[in-house]
Amino acid sequence: MPKKEQKDKTGSTGRFGSRYGTRVRERVKEVEERTKGLHQCPECRSKKVKRAGSGIWKCNRCGAKFSAKAHTPATTPIKKEVTPETEVEENHEADEKEESE
Ligand SMILES: [Zn+2]
Repeated sequence: MPKKEQKDKTGSTGRFGSRYGTRVRERVKEVEERTKGLHQCPECRSKKVKRAGSGIWKCNRCGAKFSAKAHTPATTPIKKEVTPETEVEENHEADEKEESE
């Protein structure tokens, strides 16, 4: 019989022992894995963001501190201003106004 490797399924919820039930512990584990893991920084884009408090996230690379969700930083990707090239109009008139008096 092949030796089956028993992996530790308890993870961070091992501290609960057998209490609260498997389902609950599984769900807590799911959340805690996301909470305790490293996330991408919206500033420098490195995966160095750790939870500093409830809803507070801090990047260990650039030091950026920002607020987001309690257990995960915002899951929506950082909004990039994507302007289709067809919509970009050459409108530099205001910028090129010479201020010579
Ligand atoms: Zn950063």
